Amino acid sequence: CGIVGYVGPNDTVDVLINGLRRLEYRGYDSAGIAVLDEAGDLTVRKRSGKLVRLEELLADSPVGEGHTGIGHTRWATHGGPTDENAHPHLGDNGKLALIHNGIVENFAELRAELEADGISLISETDTEVVAGLLGREVARVGDLETAFRNVVTRLTGTFTLLATHRDEPGKIVAARHHSPLVVGLGDGENFLGSDVAAFVSSTRRAVAVNEDNIAIITPENVRITDFAGTPVEYSEFEVEWDA
Ligand code: GLU
Repeated sequence: CGIVGYVGPNDTVDVLINGLRRLEYRGYDSAGIAVLDEAGDLTVRKRSGKLVRLEELLADSPVGEGHTGIGHTRWATHGGPTDENAHPHLGDNGKLALIHNGIVENFAELRAELEADGISLISETDTEVVAGLLGREVARVGDLETAFRNVVTRLTGTFTLLATHRDEPGKIVAARHHSPLVVGLGDGENFLGSDVAAFVSSTRRAVAVNEDNIAIITPENVRITDFAGTPVEYSEFEVEWDA
């Protein structure tokens, strides 16, 4: 439902929660974040219910300071609004985290393929199948970007996807297919969002990612490619926003 991603020097939990708050108007039933902290740990905190419940969880079990993170508010389509079904979902033995807006229509066959390969999933969501596939693919090809391209082309349905991997700190990969994705351009920091509300309190410089494109962001760099990996030119626009 609502998506935010951040790479940069500021406190990632604050940036993510602030972005999710600005996306609340869309409606949602669960919220969660994944943060890659300075010790190299990828930590997920997620909960059904309102964002304030996630904030309570974070107050009880804080996350170490990090500079790479993704956040999600979920509107359940596959699997009820439970803590386990909330995003982010993990893959590659907890080394990668993934969030998703939309519906993966061919999730049942992909799930069966993973189970046949000995990869069991914890939740009832269509989304976790993508985390499982991506984890298996990262282990096979050795890098997140190649693995991500190989996986998104196997999915049918609608998606905005963001993923980050412990072995590649400071990087988020994102893709869109019949679901929106925008990049926010900062100074030594960059953002991703399902809409500009996700980052408008930090930057007004944005890039609209086109259909069937992939965005790769680090604090200093934004690249956009098509699903085959061919670089795509992009231009930025100025977000107009009162408030
Ligand atoms: N289909 C996914 C789920 O049910 C994502 C829903 C959403 O867009 O929030 O978990």
